[in-house]
Amino acid sequence: MRRLNWLILFLFLPLAAHAQEQPWQVFKSTHFLIYYKSAKESQLNALAARAENDYNKITDDLGFNRFNFWTWDNRAKIYLFDTQKQYMEATGNPEWSAGQAQINGKLIRTFITARGFLDNILPHEMAHIIFREMVGFNNPGVPLWLEEGVATYQEKKNYFLKSELAARINQGKFIGLDELSRMNVSLLEDKELVSLFYNESYSLVRYLIDAFGKDKFVLFCQNLRDKRDLTRALVSAYSFKDLRDFEDSWKKYILR
Ligand SMILES: [Zn+2]
Repeated sequence: MRRLNWLILFLFLPLAAHAQEQPWQVFKSTHFLIYYKSAKESQLNALAARAENDYNKITDDLGFNRFNFWTWDNRAKIYLFDTQKQYMEATGNPEWSAGQAQINGKLIRTFITARGFLDNILPHEMAHIIFREMVGFNNPGVPLWLEEGVATYQEKKNYFLKSELAARINQGKFIGLDELSRMNVSLLEDKELVSLFYNESYSLVRYLIDAFGKDKFVLFCQNLRDKRDLTRALVSAYSFKDLRDFEDSWKKYILR
């Protein structure tokens, strides 16, 4: 009997050790590798479906669909942690964080019960990665407002109000494009200013895409990739004379 106990222990020890460090498993879809530990198949299917949908929408919205990013060895990675605790330990992120992206690494991290992840964080971070892949990762010509505008444009729940921005423009209480281009939003503490930064960024990108179409926007992004200079990229893709002219016509569009 004792021998049998030892035998059982001997047989199960490796299993127990294995369970402790539980390796990541991978679930593959066309453009994503989803790493997970104990997520259910239904949860993985749901996440993959949303991610694939967003991928198609973002590349289509921005006119990038003919470039075919992220296939085979180039797929983006999503790490789906089992719990918020594990996610926080691995990323060092605070409790309010529901997801995070490493844009250079094409990697997004979140956890199974993260709120707001599918509607806003996933499309926002994916847009960041896709856009950077298009214009170049170390491109000094890309202002933060453009990146955040492109990313915010993809969020499912957007709180932008055109009338509010119009009122601010009328009162002269908006951020001019020059200042907007120099702003580092991560250093701002004034919440109202942060929200205005995101609203204007979103609105500028939306203006470019809605008023002039996707093809022009692609051309603009290609110019930005090649010329590495915002003004030159903008002037050669659109009929604006300079940044000031772009700002003036955007204001007219908002006030219309
Ligand atoms: Zn962002």
